[in-house]
Amino acid sequence: MEIKELDTDCVFVEKELIPNTEPVKNLVELDSQGRIIINSYNQTSLPGVFAAGDITNIYAEQVLVAIGEGAKAALAAGQAGQETDYFGRGEMPPELEKAAAFTPE
Ligand SMILES: Cc1cc2nc3c(=O)[nH]c(=O)nc-3n(C[C@H](O)[C@H](O)[C@H](O)COP(=O)(O)OP(=O)(O)OC[C@H]3O[C@@H](n4cnc5c(N)ncnc54)[C@H](O)[C@@H]3O)c2cc1C
Repeated sequence: MEIKELDTDCVFVEKELIPNTEPVKNLVELDSQGRIIINSYNQTSLPGVFAAGDITNIYAEQVLVAIGEGAKAALAAGQAGQETDYFGRGEMPPELEKAAAFTPE
């Protein structure tokens, strides 16, 4: 290991970002870094479940990106709700019953 001396007054250390997906690891598909895999409509592997922000496998962990992704997820979820009549007016699709019944460990 090479050791170097730096003439400096302070040092900033950037820690690794670790997504807290432990509670949903048995609900939706994760990538090798533990982030929730989404498509361009912010849909996860479980129909009816959407995700946004740093916890997903998108490029660029930045505030503006997370805000935009949140807006996309809300739009896509709203669209899915209209198309499938999720919002309490109809039968809950079987795939969503898994999400509704899900209890994090
Ligand atoms: C040190 C640092 C500096 C940064 N600087 C910049 C910058 O200058 N510019 C920039 O654009 N971006 C910056 N970022 C990145 C930016 O902060 C993130 O991209 C953004 O906050 C992501 O938003 P998010 O809503 O996806 O996640 P977060 O902001 O992390 O929000 C997730 C929330 O979920 C909560 N949570 C976690 N687990 C649970 C649970 N089980 N139950 C309930 N709540 C839970 C957390 O407490 C948190 O409040 C920085 C990040 C760090 C760490």
